[in-house]
Amino acid sequence: MQTLTTAPVPRPGVLDIEAYVPGKSHAPAGIRLHKLSSNETPLGPSPAARAALTQASERLELYPDPQATRLKAALADRYGLNPARIICGNGSDELLSLLANAYLSEGTEGIYTEHGFLLHRTAILAAGAKAVMAPERDAHVDVDAILERVNARTRMVYIANPGNPTGTYIPFDEVRRLHAGLPPACILVLDAAYAEYVRRNDYEAGIELVSGSNNVVMTRTFSKIHGLAALRVGWMYVPETIADAVERIRGPFNLNALAIAAAAASTADTAHVEETVAYNNEWLPRLTEGLTALGLGVTPSVTNFVLIHFPQDAGKSAAEADRFLVERGFVLRAVGGYGFPHALRMTIGSPEANEGVLAALAEFMAR
Ligand SMILES: *Cc1c(COP(=O)(O)O)cnc(C)c1O
Repeated sequence: MQTLTTAPVPRPGVLDIEAYVPGKSHAPAGIRLHKLSSNETPLGPSPAARAALTQASERLELYPDPQATRLKAALADRYGLNPARIICGNGSDELLSLLANAYLSEGTEGIYTEHGFLLHRTAILAAGAKAVMAPERDAHVDVDAILERVNARTRMVYIANPGNPTGTYIPFDEVRRLHAGLPPACILVLDAAYAEYVRRNDYEAGIELVSGSNNVVMTRTFSKIHGLAALRVGWMYVPETIADAVERIRGPFNLNALAIAAAAASTADTAHVEETVAYNNEWLPRLTEGLTALGLGVTPSVTNFVLIHFPQDAGKSAAEADRFLVERGFVLRAVGGYGFPHALRMTIGSPEANEGVLAALAEFMAR
């Protein structure tokens, strides 16, 4: 007699995925909430983006443009790109998954890095492939560790540059060395969600490398510096053959009309981005120094967040600090799931939030 399973069974790999745990967003009743858990910008979106969204809301009965033409034109203009090689997504999360779904399957492998973005691993497993973890070195992507794990089944390597939750980056000659070591059938995915924040001469997000090769893609997002996380908009720059493949499986209306309009307007408002970078440049060293002065470890960051390490042996655990901060309305992100059980990730927030966290942690450390 045929044995029947009692319930539907997902395909291999799916149950190895831990469901995404979002940043907390609640403070105790009566306490003002400062959400510093999801790397959102305290400066909000460009006023031009809000205006474009309001205008687009007058035609809600119409389907959106399946090609997001206005947005691609704005991006092509801003970065000097070929619009035919841009693909837009419902957040860059969707793009990371579309790539995996187009190129990975059972019997293939995808590599992600130790402290890398959790969705990289999720995308690999959800596509049925084997997820291979490459260790990092001192909270930095380790090119040699990745190359050692590449074999004939490897089809995709995901790195976040800069990394999340580390906030560190690898210089572009290292990215080139990584690319040079990969077989031609393996795609290098450069997740550059924080690229706009980085001010380093040896950093590049990857546009030129994408332009000059057929196995590199760069993903970007409007959720971070552009302040449009609620709308879910990401984009990627890809070789033509990859654009052709991904376009076949992309949902035609994956971006809504409000998102397209707001993101296009935001792209053109370079002044707002510059303002946000300037604000971040002011606070990143202030917070790093302030936290270090309290006896906390801070991983050197080039982004809009810092990874704060608590001195476990001095009886100051990250979990206790988290509780202490939440009671005062400061919600940071626990990063045990990213391999940092003794750390919290803090988004650079408003001046009030930043100063509040410094004051609260001074109290916590002195207890
Ligand atoms: C926030 C983030 C993203 C996701 O961006 P969305 O466009 O909001 O999906 C991707 N990668 C990294 C490393 C991030 O931190």
